[in-house]
Amino acid sequence: MADEAWLRQCVIDAGFDLARTGLSPQRSGNVSARCGDVVLITPSGAAYEDLLPEDIVALRLDGTVASGRLQPSSEWPMHLAIYRAREDVGAIVHAHSDHAVTLAVMKRAIPAFHYMVAVAGGSDIRCAPYATFGSEALAAHAVAALDGRRACLLAHHGQIAIGATVEDALHLAHEVETLAGQYWRALQIGEPDLLDADEMARVVEKFRTYGKPLS
Ligand code: 13P
Ligand code: ZN
Repeated sequence: MADEAWLRQCVIDAGFDLARTGLSPQRSGNVSARCGDVVLITPSGAAYEDLLPEDIVALRLDGTVASGRLQPSSEWPMHLAIYRAREDVGAIVHAHSDHAVTLAVMKRAIPAFHYMVAVAGGSDIRCAPYATFGSEALAAHAVAALDGRRACLLAHHGQIAIGATVEDALHLAHEVETLAGQYWRALQIGEPDLLDADEMARVVEKFRTYGKPLS
């Protein structure tokens, strides 16, 4: 198990990145990491620049607070539902990034307009139906839209990216935003042709080893 102090700092650093890069405006978005039996999550309404390790809230998978003096992110039901459903997930980043939101308010998924869409694990990045922020309904929609994927859009809301590590999840959230921006730009000209399912399956397979060490 990764050291808890180190993981708390990873969560803070990712929150800081959301603020610094503008990936999630103002105090929107949230970050969490699995640490053994608990989940370390940003506090609700966090000003990411000011976060201290002790501000990160530790939640058990049933939603009870293991430690912390601040309220956990209002999206704790969504984070915990994903950790319960997916044992492979070690970290989650949720953001209201501009282009992801632009597509999500139109309830548009990101289809296979570019091979890089496979970076999220499949031939598209789905858009989960709308439900109120922080609700169990939104948590269920997100888990369903993430089936076989590592990212999805959330209608009228934003995006969510998951990974083995905080670094992975944050990197993917940036990739999703880049893809959303590129797709949105292409839509200004027209509807782009899409890559077929066989090609996307090939790319998904290639991504299993892409950028990884040789042995
Ligand atoms: P929190 O500040 O409670 O994490 O909420 C931000 C958000 O993006 C809700 O969807
Ligand atoms: Zn949100």
